[in-house]
Amino acid sequence: MDHADVVVVGAGLAGLAAAHRLTRAGVRVSVLEAAPVVGGTTTTERIDGFRLDRTSALLSSAYPELRRVGALGDLPLRMFSPGVLVHQGGRLQRTGETGSSPFALRGVGGAFTVARALASAPRPRQLDQARLGASLARLAGTPVRRVLARPERTVADVLYGRGLPARTVHGFLRPLLSALLADPELTTSSRCADLVLRGYARGRLCIPAGGADALPLRLAESLPEGTVRTGVRVTDVAVNRVVTEGHGEISCRSVLVATGGRAAAGLLPGLRVPSYRPLTVVHHAAPEAPLTDPALLLDADRGGPVAYTAVMSEVDPLRAPEGRALVSSTVLGAPPEDADRAVRRHLSALYGTPTDDWELLAVHHDPEAVPAMPPPHDPRRPVRLLAGLYVCGAHRDTATVQGALFSGRRAAQSILSDLGIRHDQAAAALSAAA
Ligand SMILES: Cc1cc2nc3c(=O)[nH]c(=O)nc-3n(C[C@H](O)[C@H](O)[C@H](O)COP(=O)(O)OP(=O)(O)OC[C@H]3O[C@@H](n4cnc5c(N)ncnc54)[C@H](O)[C@@H]3O)c2cc1C
Repeated sequence: MDHADVVVVGAGLAGLAAAHRLTRAGVRVSVLEAAPVVGGTTTTERIDGFRLDRTSALLSSAYPELRRVGALGDLPLRMFSPGVLVHQGGRLQRTGETGSSPFALRGVGGAFTVARALASAPRPRQLDQARLGASLARLAGTPVRRVLARPERTVADVLYGRGLPARTVHGFLRPLLSALLADPELTTSSRCADLVLRGYARGRLCIPAGGADALPLRLAESLPEGTVRTGVRVTDVAVNRVVTEGHGEISCRSVLVATGGRAAAGLLPGLRVPSYRPLTVVHHAAPEAPLTDPALLLDADRGGPVAYTAVMSEVDPLRAPEGRALVSSTVLGAPPEDADRAVRRHLSALYGTPTDDWELLAVHHDPEAVPAMPPPHDPRRPVRLLAGLYVCGAHRDTATVQGALFSGRRAAQSILSDLGIRHDQAAAALSAAA
């Protein structure tokens, strides 16, 4: 255990994706993780039959890395219903999709179907939907290199100049982008926002079946036995060795630092610490689902602390025990005072149903949840610092699951190239050369 070809520091999605790529090329890898479990920010807590994600972990089924990373190719995903439900002016409207949905909403005003609500929508709204659909379809078909060549400003600066009516911006783009970028003021780079919106437009919003931790667990299980060591904190790195807290030194030919941005800067002096956006995820148990539609519900009115919420057990029945519902809600920022009551009050307005008998299961607050991406932001930041020393993680890419996985694969390719290993070359070559 005191030598490896490559030591990867951190078993979050980026580090595991890199290890997956490297071991498939035959490289002997040791992944050292400070925490007792793998996954980093993508972990899932199990309480009384509920599965509670620490992050909201919204994926797009079109994230390219879900297909490219071999071990994730057949990962079971649970889809949200098409588009999103937006709460605006006291009403819920489905938008951001074409067609209608047959799901029913159980609220104080009695059941109604979203399909009926859409069919009876006034003509201007139908036109808005058609224009929005066309705009999303155009973005979906735009190559990434063209998105990255667009002028870069903040999202807020460009949002009203895209030829869509202010109604659509207020009732769809602003709440959706705020949610996906964890950025209520929309100060993110417009290019990064376009990349994220492109991912939305090309697929369906979804979550991993059974919990967000299915992603890292799948990756870790794909590695040769003994590759990942948890409970091992790295305190120092150089091109040919890492020093750990209480577990000695490990010599190696290359080191990949795959921690969060702040920890990476601690190990690699000179690396910039990104600014971060805080997030709070609040989980409630309800005696029955307040909405049978497996939809992502956004609040365009900002009528309370919750930016978006979903009945997760309707999206993925594995998330709650039989006969109970799991409602997960995200606050863009710190938890409000008396978080349980403030969030339940807001959810009561959003779902149109009393929430007095809902039970608080967990509040996960992360003051450094996602790296901010203000302009100018390079979503393909270099992963090779010098031959033998590499860095990856969401802070080198877009601050998403896709970005973390992609940065890990980019770093692995760079290491393989420096080691002189072709993508398809087998393991023996490296061992023989060592
Ligand atoms: C609340 C929240 C909500 C989010 N929502 C979404 C979303 O809806 N959609 C989306 O796509 N993305 C979302 N994200 C972002 C996404 O989860 C992250 O981009 C991604 O998981 C980051 O992975 P990573 O591997 O870069 O870093 P991390 O997950 O931070 O992994 C780094 C690992 O390094 C380990 N480590 C640190 N220091 C050391 C050390 N010295 N020695 C050994 N190990 C060390 C850590 O313990 C950790 O396991 C969210 C994130 C948060 C926090």
